Amino acid sequence: MTSAHERWAARDAAVVWHGFTQMSSYVDNQPIIVESAEGRELIDVDGRRYLDAISSLWVTTLGHHVPELDQAAREQLDRVAHSTMLGNGNRITIELAEALAPRVPVAEPHFLFASDGAAAVEQALKIAFQFWTNQGISGRTRYLALGGAYHGDTIGAISVGAGGFGTDMFDPLRFSVLRAPGYDDAAWAEAAVAMIAAHAHELAAVVIEPLVQGAVGMWVTNPESVERVAAACREHDVLLIADEVATGFGRTGTLFASEQCGIRPDIMCIGKGLTGGYLAMAATVASRRVYEAFLGPDLSEMTLYHGHSFSGNALAAAVGLRHLQLFDELDVLVNVRERGAQLGARLAEMATDRAAVGSIRRRGLMTGVELAPPADDLRWGRRVCAAAVRRGVLLRPLGDVVVIMPILTTTADEIDRIVDVLAESIDEICVG
Ligand SMILES: *Cc1c(COP(=O)(O)O)cnc(C)c1O
Repeated sequence: MTSAHERWAARDAAVVWHGFTQMSSYVDNQPIIVESAEGRELIDVDGRRYLDAISSLWVTTLGHHVPELDQAAREQLDRVAHSTMLGNGNRITIELAEALAPRVPVAEPHFLFASDGAAAVEQALKIAFQFWTNQGISGRTRYLALGGAYHGDTIGAISVGAGGFGTDMFDPLRFSVLRAPGYDDAAWAEAAVAMIAAHAHELAAVVIEPLVQGAVGMWVTNPESVERVAAACREHDVLLIADEVATGFGRTGTLFASEQCGIRPDIMCIGKGLTGGYLAMAATVASRRVYEAFLGPDLSEMTLYHGHSFSGNALAAAVGLRHLQLFDELDVLVNVRERGAQLGARLAEMATDRAAVGSIRRRGLMTGVELAPPADDLRWGRRVCAAAVRRGVLLRPLGDVVVIMPILTTTADEIDRIVDVLAESIDEICVG
């Protein structure tokens, strides 16, 4: 007799193509097939429960099936699910932008909504480019980005991204960017500052992930370094784009990582946690100075000719608005800081007698535990996470870095459980 899981996995593989997934081994790798969820647990088609320790790939903030967010979506459904932002408005989207405006570290912001983080980055790149041409300034056509950078999967986003992830074959499609070192190099900011000074005349913008470079394997830096790079951008009049798609909405212990760095980017990209992980919504946030460079006669070339079909989606906006209110009502950031400290302490203790653990990198609840396999092809990351999933804790690695990205409302007991299960999984897999 086959389990529900086996039947659904076969149906899945027959018609669905999963991103970042080799489909020929998809079923063998024991994917969990989710049917429902409760709090911080996902429930599969056989009724088995998994603690979601990756926030469903970094999007879930308050939990799954949150009564208040469910209610916000239902109430909006009784009004309207979607109407276009192109040349027209929607009441709930205005309310969301008004609620976000005082919370984002961008001066007198305007919000250009999109559906995914990569699209928010594309918008930011185009806005930075046109910002200069609209003012009759030529030659500001390049970007400076960092080693290890990840900004999404569209062609513009992979151009400012540093490559890897099997994307090198697309190199002929990438436009060229200036590349400073990433956060794995302690001197990255010094090098970036020097490059900004040398290339300011040709730079449209500098693109960074403040504080944490997530997808490369949770490389972290200190706020002072980020602030130095922001200062160089100001000094040389180069726009600063902060990609907070991953770091935004509380992950690092403040609502946005830019706050800890004391910076106010000209353009900021937000996504992932914007709707608490419920619906596909992202936004490019522009400062007043950037926004005003696009004002001109109707139908003129000053206009930003860019806009996505589902930009400003009303259902997503309703959930995003309620999410922002709940963030305060539940004192989420206090929990992030307390649970983050607990997670850091427990992981450090776990690592002391385990040679298989290399470095541990963390800001708030964004965490990477780098395993140190003695040979390259042991696939420790993949196998340790599979062992954790068998124990009911959902983890997913980046190479040999085990990412721990707990939902922001995680309890002390759940943090203990995640670390205990990770330790058992390492002990099971990483022998010899
Ligand atoms: C995930 C991510 C993106 C891309 O967002 P999508 O919604 O997956 O397109 C961009 N930048 C950073 C820093 C990210 O972590």
